[in-house]
Amino acid sequence: MKPETLAVHAGFESDPATGAVMPPIYQVSTYAQSAPGEHQGFEYSRSDNPTRTPLQKAIAELEHARHGLVFSSGLSAIDAVLNTLKSGDHVVAGDDLYGGTFRLFSRVAVDRGLEFSFVPLHSEAELKAAIRPETKLIWFETPTNPMLRLIDIAMVCRVAKEYGILVGVDNTFMSPMLQNPLDLGADIVMHSITKYINGHSDVVMGCLAVNDENLYARLKFLQNAVGGVPGPMDCFLVLRGIRTLAVRMRQHELGANAVAAFLSKHPKVEATIHPSLISHPDHALAIRQQRGFGGMISFYVRGDLAASKRFLAGLKLFKLAESLGGVESLIEHPAIMTHASVPEEQRLKLGILDNFIRVSVGIEHADDLIADLESGLKAV
Ligand code: PLP
Repeated sequence: MKPETLAVHAGFESDPATGAVMPPIYQVSTYAQSAPGEHQGFEYSRSDNPTRTPLQKAIAELEHARHGLVFSSGLSAIDAVLNTLKSGDHVVAGDDLYGGTFRLFSRVAVDRGLEFSFVPLHSEAELKAAIRPETKLIWFETPTNPMLRLIDIAMVCRVAKEYGILVGVDNTFMSPMLQNPLDLGADIVMHSITKYINGHSDVVMGCLAVNDENLYARLKFLQNAVGGVPGPMDCFLVLRGIRTLAVRMRQHELGANAVAAFLSKHPKVEATIHPSLISHPDHALAIRQQRGFGGMISFYVRGDLAASKRFLAGLKLFKLAESLGGVESLIEHPAIMTHASVPEEQRLKLGILDNFIRVSVGIEHADDLIADLESGLKAV
């Protein structure tokens, strides 16, 4: 099935009881049993809920996986993966991660005895040098956040297999429409559903998709045992969002390609980062690995923090807000906003400077977005 068709049909066809083409919102915590232990598959909504089930099925289908699990946020999905590890285990993580993921690793999981090495993962040699006998997991985002570098998923998986290490990929920036890491050898794919999958900036949620039965059983156990599950109304909203995922992603990309081309030629922009640009260091990998370049752009305004603030204040259409992947275009200042929890030294090393801006291109017409950016840049 083509992705456009899959997005419309994934997880749910119609309700056998009524024919309803969307699942009912089972706003319920518990279920009557006919005798102790005799029930219709649902006991308590932390364990399973009939509105959550089709969403989990949809996530699995979209990621070409056997199993999908949803969590109350992207971070709680990542935390479930960390909970499969034991004290003393080591994780090789990408060095350019969402700030909240970095905070979870470096300020929460370390207190549970996990160890982390943050490395760029751009070459086999770099990866192999970071692997230790205790390494149990390699975790990264591609494209990375916010520098939009790409990591070669197949290369990482090939090395990981040699050493018997699991690979987890945060696929949030691509959505399942543009990239399916399990097909390239990854063991776990994760999304902040909050972003493209839901797409309407009205739900916080996360998910995991896996093929391995034992890994699924452990993660499903953790989902219930730890309890970070989303409510039925949010599951319904996300399933509704998924129906338009394919058309939204196409429009995000159309807009982003046009905006990136505009910014890359603008005299008040020092440098523009988007995988569609020939100047992007991973342009060739993007063509090979992804089914599109995605809707995220980063760039450097010519000037300092004050220039960045003047630029941001001059915008009307772009909302100054954290997050990404919604229908509306968002813009933010990573050093002060999304990546404030990354230590300054690491931020500077990565290039998250005072004149660095990140854009999530929405689904508006590119002409309107470009006109808005032009008026902001006039203030620089
Ligand atoms: N991964 C990426 C790439 C993100 O951008 C985010 C949030 O911005 C997360 C994970 C965390 O997801 P959530 O905010 O849904 O917990």
